[in-house]
Amino acid sequence: MTTGAGRFAPSPSGDLHIGNLRTALLAWLFARSTGRSFLLRIEDLDRVRPGAEERQLRDLAALGLGFDGESVRQSKRRARYDAVVDALGERGATYECFCTRREILEAASAPHSPPGAYPGTCRDLTSRERDERRVSGRSPAIRLRADVTEYTVTDLLHGSWTGAVDDLVLRRGDGIPAYNLAVVVDDGDAGIDQVVRGDDLLASAPRQAYLASLLGIDEPVYAHVPLVLNTEGKRLAKRDGAVTLADREALGETPRDVLAMLARSLRLAGDGEHPGTADLLARFDPSALPREPWIVDMSA
Ligand code: GLU
Repeated sequence: MTTGAGRFAPSPSGDLHIGNLRTALLAWLFARSTGRSFLLRIEDLDRVRPGAEERQLRDLAALGLGFDGESVRQSKRRARYDAVVDALGERGATYECFCTRREILEAASAPHSPPGAYPGTCRDLTSRERDERRVSGRSPAIRLRADVTEYTVTDLLHGSWTGAVDDLVLRRGDGIPAYNLAVVVDDGDAGIDQVVRGDDLLASAPRQAYLASLLGIDEPVYAHVPLVLNTEGKRLAKRDGAVTLADREALGETPRDVLAMLARSLRLAGDGEHPGTADLLARFDPSALPREPWIVDMSA
């Protein structure tokens, strides 16, 4: 047993579908089974759909997933993110980038840099070149001056995993803190030492862990869990049918039925069984978790 905390960090850009709910259940099980508290963070820096947050909270509560303490809202923490970016800047660890998305896509990547990585166009601009670009009216993004090109993290499901690190954006040109920065600062500030989330974010973990190391934050225990896919092997989405808890309720299912479906998919329940979250916690064994995606047909 340990102290520390796990978390679920939804973006209120829409309703949670059963893939998100399954990840939330897993994050809860990982946290609770290791004696950690479980924190909720609302990642509302970017796209927010009115009412989505309320529905997400309702769905999590209806499934029996409880959180500790007050939830954290990223939009309230802008000053904190700015302070971290500025402090990195004072250490010479950042630079201004005037590139548009299109210019980055068009620029040939530097030799040895991973595909899609920022080619470093603005890394070594002189102050005069920076002034010229500023005069043209572009407000710069702030990038990390990374001194590695890859970094290795340890993941409970993926083992030792090495991925690319480039000069990632810390603050966008429109002033919004970047996701990678906010996640690392938030997890560090909240004492979150266990990060359980969908494995679509595994590729982001090396750059986040590297950034954490620069900020003196210990790397969390990572568990990037398999996603839920549709019958075409694509990530589950709204158009795949009755995929949200409200959709399932409209078909006559209860939250307990949905929890049972998620539990079966994790091999934590048998057919016809309706265990509660406490039962699932008693049965949870991370080493027995399915390692492959859960493929569902929700169109019926
Ligand atoms: N807000 C992100 C999402 O909803 C999750 C970020 C994270 O868990 O690090 O996909």
